[in-house]
Amino acid sequence: MTNLLKNKKISETPFRKEVLSIFTKYNNAIPLSIVEKELREYNRITLYRTIKIFLEKGIIHEIIITGEKSNYAICQEECVTNLHYHQHIHFKCNRCGIVSCVEIGKFPAIILPKYKIEQLEIQATGLCKKCNA
Ligand SMILES: [Zn+2]
Ligand SMILES: [Zn+2]
Ligand SMILES: [Zn+2]
Repeated sequence: MTNLLKNKKISETPFRKEVLSIFTKYNNAIPLSIVEKELREYNRITLYRTIKIFLEKGIIHEIIITGEKSNYAICQEECVTNLHYHQHIHFKCNRCGIVSCVEIGKFPAIILPKYKIEQLEIQATGLCKKCNA
């Protein structure tokens, strides 16, 4: 856990460790409101700054599903500064409302001649594993 911050060359503060532990505690993506609820004491500015650093350093990624509040999830792959390269899809369950990162066996390779893709995201909605059981 603390290694993650060290690996990404982010100075460890008790607050950053606490925020990171919240993201790792949840198996799915969470909105900022859950992070705020989990934190006992926090300063809004510090929290936003921490989120921004985590996003920039490839610790977490933001998931924006049309019409929804932003959700954040821990990066499972090796994301580097300002370059999130994910090989999973984002799934929003229409019944329980949970947004999760779902690994897929073979991520489609999309080639756009003359373009440089820096970020690629695939989103899906439907029923999650639990709700569809
Ligand atoms: Zn990432
Ligand atoms: Zn569900
Ligand atoms: Zn994800």
